[in-house]
Amino acid sequence: MQKTVSFSKHACNVFFHILTSCNLRCAHCYINREQHGDQTLPLATIEAWLRVFATKNKVANVIFLGGEPTLHPDLPAAVRMARAMGFKSITIDTNGYLFHNILERLDPEAVDYLSFSLDGANRQTNDRIRGRGSYDACTEGLRRAVAAGFHTSLIYTVSGTNLDELKKMPSLLSDLGVERFFIQVIGLRGKSACGSRTGRQVAAQDWLTIIPEVAAQVARRGITATYPKVFLGLDDPFECAGLVADNYFIFPNGRVYRCPLCEDFPLHSMKFAGDRLETMPPINEADLFQLTIPEGCVMNKLVQPENITYHRDGNPEYRVACCLLKEELTP
Ligand code: SF4
Ligand code: SF4
Repeated sequence: MQKTVSFSKHACNVFFHILTSCNLRCAHCYINREQHGDQTLPLATIEAWLRVFATKNKVANVIFLGGEPTLHPDLPAAVRMARAMGFKSITIDTNGYLFHNILERLDPEAVDYLSFSLDGANRQTNDRIRGRGSYDACTEGLRRAVAAGFHTSLIYTVSGTNLDELKKMPSLLSDLGVERFFIQVIGLRGKSACGSRTGRQVAAQDWLTIIPEVAAQVARRGITATYPKVFLGLDDPFECAGLVADNYFIFPNGRVYRCPLCEDFPLHSMKFAGDRLETMPPINEADLFQLTIPEGCVMNKLVQPENITYHRDGNPEYRVACCLLKEELTP
């Protein structure tokens, strides 16, 4: 079954970057220490900030991220705190190195999903993007997690350099025993925003023909597949998640964003001052969410206008969807 995952103010998602350090140096890494800080948050701060969201919304989902979150020695304690506070679901996004014996220090029931990142169906493609040895580390870590009884998902960030390889992922996912597959599109954030833009981004026609087909193949194998919608049809409504959803992207320096495309800029609409969440004065991302333009997403038009092509009369050929709008195919 295919459905567009609609935005909801009732589904609160807390994307919590508890540190920005990482053992890898992926080519497309979006972590930007200048904007996000380089602290490793103490457990007491993690607890205090989690509590703000647990109190605010009783059905919040939390996703622990980094950098590499398993590098944080207190991650198991943070996960247990989140569970005790009543978060609806808890996910850890990892590059698969699984530091600090995380599989031994957490019960499989303590987390809803361990989510691994792999950017190629073979060693050569993945390691060219994510670094030597990362394919083996990720697939071995994933197999160990499945064997230990954890629910797992896998994230594949598509760029011009690994689009073809995506077609080989369905059989690898079955072999690894993954339950959910997330396709991401490379964004011009962090390192991706530096240097040449050519060859990285995926052309609209390639995206529209390849991605839905691969997702359908994955779903036929009994694995839930999710991918960003990216290009809206003429009749599809445009919605900005900043206005109609309840997402928070928290960084170690206390910045809290509502839109991932704003994260390279000091446009955060909120900031932790100590343990208090404060609203930032204008101008911030919230002011941009209000703008209505024929191209759809305002931030996309500002940071990656080459995504948009125009008819001769000046109208865009399609609108670009909110980067958080997903299509989901369930088996
Ligand atoms: S594993 Fe994640 S945080 Fe680490 S370099 Fe790669 S993309 Fe960045
Ligand atoms: S990606 Fe665009 S549409 Fe989505 S929240 Fe950001 S500004 Fe709004």
